[in-house]
Formats: sequence, structure tokens, C-alpha cells
Amino acid sequence: MHSDYLVLAYYKFVQIEDPHAEVARHKQFFEGRDARSRIYISHEGINGQMSAAKADAESYMKWIHSDPRFGDLEFKIHHHHENVFPKLTIKFREQLVAMDERVDTTKGGQHLSPEEWKRMMEERDEDTILIDTRNDYEWKLGHFEGSELPPLDRFRDFPAYARYLKEKRDPKKTRVMMCCTGGIRCELYSALMKREGFEQVYQLEGGIIKYGLEVGSDHWQGKLFVFDDRLAVPVGNKASVISSCCYCGVHCDTYLNCANTDCNQLFICCSSCAALAQGCCCKECEQAPRVRAFVPSERPKPFRKLRSGGTSSC
Ligand SMILES: [Zn+2]
Ligand SMILES: [Zn+2]
Repeated sequence: MHSDYLVLAYYKFVQIEDPHAEVARHKQFFEGRDARSRIYISHEGINGQMSAAKADAESYMKWIHSDPRFGDLEFKIHHHHENVFPKLTIKFREQLVAMDERVDTTKGGQHLSPEEWKRMMEERDEDTILIDTRNDYEWKLGHFEGSELPPLDRFRDFPAYARYLKEKRDPKKTRVMMCCTGGIRCELYSALMKREGFEQVYQLEGGIIKYGLEVGSDHWQGKLFVFDDRLAVPVGNKASVISSCCYCGVHCDTYLNCANTDCNQLFICCSSCAALAQGCCCKECEQAPRVRAFVPSERPKPFRKLRSGGTSSC
């Protein structure tokens, strides 16, 4: 396989005086380069995911590191044979992670390196809980052994979950381990857990991506969901499948967006069931008025704008 492209994941909380100017500066940098991205810039910092031809990705890393505000910005790097995002998106955002409440990220949980995280997992007792701060469809594809998924519809509701957990668990005695894809969500949610009174809060630095790069697949099951064309990537070198087709139950980790454009829900489906259901997640959706034509493909590219109106789930 060619590996001429780099996929970069990164974020940094740092005060940005004029985020709109920073967006413009970024756009200018990427002009004429072979890159695709989802980069968000706010007053509180930058959150980026991107792919680019190797030389362009390397120039970008060098360019951003030359700026004192981003001098210590850490990139998590994967290799791939093509760009993994549909287009180059660089946008201003009010918040880097959507949450109804303001939290002070400087008061977040203690960062654990992937090695330290692994050790803490191995020394866990009944007073240690491991909270996965991702969505259920991400968790389904793969997660750490024994991790808990907060029962939330939307991550904006996390503050209520933290308060609920405080009723169930002694916030002084409980060790809270938190993880997410790249680390940024935990910066906020760990600060929130601490604000709610949990004293021992730990977050996996660099998220599951960095864990996979530095430790490998130890204590991890399945694959890592990513919000780009790859959809699922191995953590370390071992790529196991723990999820199954929603119709026939066969082991499968292919996500489809429901072909009913008014549903568009992500669901796990094998290729034969996808053909039978014409790309729909359920019988009701098959009968819906706005169903796009089903095009069979082993690994459909997700997160694309739909031709017939609606937008994808991202
Ligand atoms: Zn099936
Ligand atoms: Zn559906």
C-alpha cells in the first residue's frame, strides 16, 4: 500500500486574539496544496483533523510550529494512500467542543501518558471507573476493556451525567479514568468531573490515537472510529472486529449512512444485507419518500454531503 499521505490529528487550547484572522492565515497557507481538512479555530484554540500529501503535511507542521503559540502543538500521525476528508474546511467556531457550560480546561484531570494509562488499567480496582467520552456509535466499533459509556443522547448533557455519577459514587474515593479519540473531549469533560467534586480524575493524553501509536492494542478491543473516509482504523497492529451487522449478526465493522435521506443514521451492516435493504437501516426507511439510490461498495465513503438535500451526520 502506498503511504504518500499523512493524516494529522491535533488540538491546542491557547488564547487566539483574532480567530478569524487565523482562519484566513490558514486558508492562505493551504492555497494550492494537496490537503483536505476539518480545522476549527476559536478564541480558545485550535482543533484540527486533516490529511495532506506528505510534503504538504510536513510543511504545515513546520509552519505551525514556527508560531510561538503553537510551538509545542503535538501531532498524531497516521499514514494513508489518499486524502481522507471530502474537502478543505477551515472554520471559525464559537467553541471547540460543543457544551452548554463554560469550563476551565486548565483545571482538567491529570494527563496520563499512554504507558501510564496502560499501567493504571492493569492496576484497576472497584474504585476505578473508566469513562469513554465518545458517542455510542464510536464505542460499538471498539473500546477499552471494561470501559463505561455514559448513557447520553447528546454530549451536551454530560454535566447532568457527572452529577448523576456523584450520587452513585464517592467522589473522593473514586478514581475516574477518561478517554476519547484524540484527547480534546476529555480536556473539557475531565474539568467538569473535577468541578463536580471528583478529586482523582485522569485523562488519556493524546487519546486513543496516541495510545495506539505508542502502546499498541493492549486492553483495546475492536477498531477506532474516526470521522473521515477511513471510518475505522486499527489501534496498534491488531485489527479485531467486535461489532456485527444489524440485520444478520455476522461480524462486521462497516458503517453505512441510511439511504433514507431523512434518516441518514449510521448503522453497521454487511454488504449482502446492505444490498437486500437497499442501504436502509430499517423497513420503515425502505418505504420512506426520499431514499437515494443504493450503490454497492465494500467501504462506502461517509460524511459526504448528500445530493438530494440533507447533509451527512457530521
Ligand atoms: Zn448482514
Ligand atoms: Zn434509516
